[in-house]
Order: sequence, then structure tokens, then C-alpha cells
Amino acid sequence: MIRLNKTAALPAVGMTGFETPLGEEENAILQTVHRFAREVLRPVGRELDRMTPEQVIAPGSPYWAAVFESAKLGLDPQLIAQFPPEVAVRIESLIGEELGWGDSGLAVSLGAATMPLTMAQSLGNQELIDMCTGKVGCWMNTQPDRGSDAAILYREELSDGGRQPIGNVTAKVGADEIVINGQSSAWVSNGSVAQVALAYMAADYGDGFYGSGEHGAFTNGIGLILPLNLPGISRGKPLDKIGQRSLPQGEIYFDNVRVPKRFAIALKDEYLGNLASTWSFAGTHMCQVFVGVARAAFELALAYCHERKQGGALLIEHQMTQLRVGEMLRRLEMARAIARRSLAFARLSPQSHPYATAQAKVSVTEEAMKIAHEAFQLFGANGTTREFPIEKLFRDVRSALIEDGENYILTSRLGVLASRLYQDGWGRE
Ligand SMILES: Cc1cc2nc3c(=O)[nH]c(=O)nc-3n(C[C@H](O)[C@H](O)[C@H](O)COP(=O)(O)OP(=O)(O)OC[C@H]3O[C@@H](n4cnc5c(N)ncnc54)[C@H](O)[C@@H]3O)c2cc1C
Repeated sequence: MIRLNKTAALPAVGMTGFETPLGEEENAILQTVHRFAREVLRPVGRELDRMTPEQVIAPGSPYWAAVFESAKLGLDPQLIAQFPPEVAVRIESLIGEELGWGDSGLAVSLGAATMPLTMAQSLGNQELIDMCTGKVGCWMNTQPDRGSDAAILYREELSDGGRQPIGNVTAKVGADEIVINGQSSAWVSNGSVAQVALAYMAADYGDGFYGSGEHGAFTNGIGLILPLNLPGISRGKPLDKIGQRSLPQGEIYFDNVRVPKRFAIALKDEYLGNLASTWSFAGTHMCQVFVGVARAAFELALAYCHERKQGGALLIEHQMTQLRVGEMLRRLEMARAIARRSLAFARLSPQSHPYATAQAKVSVTEEAMKIAHEAFQLFGANGTTREFPIEKLFRDVRSALIEDGENYILTSRLGVLASRLYQDGWGRE
């Protein structure tokens, strides 16, 4: 049946675009998180953007106020999980988008902060849950010599004869104790402030770092939840960078750090599956966050086109500008659709996969980059000044093309996955 409208009135549109009607609870959550994004994340994010990395993490910095205020929102994932699955997915997406709309650096920081606790809850390990509750967490996976190589799943991802590097932080696994040495990359989100880490690294179980047979090119690994106040742990200088400056990043150093073996969450045989699960879960947050950034850029440009006059008319009155605005909105709707589909797949599919999550991260961040670029261009020379916030969004989104996996690498891994699926019978029906 055709849904008949009496007039060609404007469509029923919400903050999140061409959205089907939200339920009462969804709407209440959206309004609460939007208020938090508008009143806390956005102003704090802009303030932190102008500060040095040292000032960002100093006691009394607005960064800590944002962390404190976010805890008061009470957005416990376990509460959201009580909604019917499809509703829970939309709520999670709405929350992520609003946080990103407020400030992507803080949105990523708040997401990373919960990762050790989420893992502990997924395992149902009460000791680890207690260790992580109320703490700022991080996800420590990459190292200086193990960036794209930190999370390799299939042999085809290495060149002929190539091996996954051992990396710069390693574990020696004993009967009751694990000893960790080395350093993480400087890119670990929250690395300079985190109190607990969900950490993955190469491990020697007494038979060397490399596996055997089919896994001969891969390092053995271990996943752990670590309190970051253990003797032998220290931090690098907080990282200075072009975008997401509100997100504290920095190295974590390990000097003969002794950890009880019961803090391990994935030993040798479970390592890759656990790492893949974490990645397929966490990457979905990136997608929603950068839809929010894309929306923020679109809204800024739309408003500017209704203020700025050139060629005898407002920018929006020129046909070419209408085309450019339409193109941005089309890309925004597309990014949101991809972000939500991949989130639903990650949460509801019986077998999620990090490359399925990652392909969405690539698409969303590429679209967000195009939108931020076009918005920047619509601002003319004004866009290049620090007086107008579009330049910050442009810088923030640029980092996202590398964050959580570099986009070319993630796309080529999707190709490997397609081939593996084909060999398994998929695509031949
Ligand atoms: C804002 C931000 C937040 C981050 N947060 C975290 C975090 O919380 N935790 C964490 O552990 N890490 C984090 N990272 C690190 C991130 O995951 C890595 O930067 C990313 O995986 C890429 O690694 P790399 O920077 O070492 O680049 P490299 O792997 O050195 O890649 C450099 C270039 O070489 C290309 N390249 C690499 N390998 C190959 C190959 N086999 N074949 C062909 N080309 C190749 C890539 O396409 C890329 O263009 C973060 C990074 C950023 C920017």
C-alpha cells in the first residue's frame, strides 16, 4: 500500500536524519545524551583542543570533568542490553552518534575507558570486574614495530616468507605468573591516563614466540587485564597530534612487570578468537562516533550557507551549493546506514567478525572525511581560521582514517575475507 500524504509537506525528520519513529525510551535517552554532548562534550572538547597534551591530562583539567559527568549519565551497557535486540542496537547507535557529535576525541576516550570492564563482564570474572569498575581503561594492542601487523588473522595478510613481528612488548608465561617487558605504541587511546588495560601481546609459553605448522608465521599471543599501577609500569610523554586532541594517548612501558596468571583472559589457543571478538565489538563504536562528526560538519556548513552571501545571494540560493549540500546529506545518510548495519551484525550475528566491522569503519570514516572536507570548503577562507569550528572537525576526522586500523589495510583484509568465504562456498549459489 502507498502511504498517502495529503500535502507535500516536509518529511518527519529527527536529529539523526530520516529516522523511523523513536520509542519513548529511545527518545529520552537521545535527548539526555544530546544535552550532555552539547553542554559538556562540545565545549570541553574545544577547550582541550587548544591545550597542550600535558595540560589535557593534568589534575583539574576539564578532561576529568567530562569523564566524571559521563559517569553520571548511567549509560550502563547492561541496562541497554535489556531492550529488545534491535532496539538495543539503535540505542547504542544513537548514543555513539551523539557522543561523536559532541567531540570525537572524548567519545573515543569514553569508549576505550570501558573496554577492560566490558571484557571482564563478558567473561563473568568477578575479580576482574571489581578491578575494572569505576576505572579509566584502555585497549593496548599496537606497538612501535607492530602497527597494522598487531592483528593479523590469515596467512595471506603477510608477504611470501614474511612473519608477524614479535613486537616491542612481550610476555613470558610461567606456571602461575606472567612477566611483561617492553613498550606499547604511543597511540594507545587513554594510554597516558588509564588505570587498567585490556592488553594483547606476543607470548612465549616456554617454546618460543612463534607457532608451528600453519601458524608458523604468526606469533603466539596472550590477552590480559592489567592494573596499571603494578611495579615496573611507567608512562611516556602524552602524545601531541593534529586531531582528537582531547583524547589522551601515550606509551605504556613495562620493566619486568609480574602479573598473576589468573589475570590472563586468553591464552595461546584462545588468543586470536578473543582479540578478534574485542575488535569486532569495539570498532562499531568508531562507526557511530564518526557519523556524529560527519553530522556536526554537515550542520555547520548548512547553517553557514544560510548566513553567507556571495554572488548577490545567500550561498544556499545558488544551485551548485544546493547540490553540494545535498551531496553531503546523502553521504551522511549512507554513513549512518552502514554504521548501524555493521553494529547490528556485530551484536546480533551468531559469528561476528572484525573485518565485517572494519569495512564499515572504513566506509564511515571515508564518508565523514568527504563531508568534513566539503564543509570546510563551503566556509571559504573562514574555514581555515581557528575562529570557526569546522577546522577542528576536519583535523579530528583525518586521524580516524588510521585509527582502529589503517583504511587501505582494512580494505585489503576485506578482500582476503571475501576470498576465504568464496573458498568456503559463499557467493556461488
Ligand atoms: C587516534 C588514534 C587512536 C588509536 N588508538 C589505539 C588504541 O586505543 N589502541 C591501540 O593499540 N592502538 C591504537 N591506535 C593505533 C592504530 O591502531 C594504528 O595506528 C594502526 O593500526 C596503523 O598502524 P601504524 O600507525 O603503525 O601504521 P603502519 O602499520 O606502519 O602502516 C603505515 C602505512 O603502511 C601501509 N602498510 C602497512 N602494512 C602493509 C602491508 N602489509 N602491505 C602494504 N601496505 C602496508 C599502511 O597502509 C599505511 O599506509 C590508534 C591510532 C590513532 C591514530
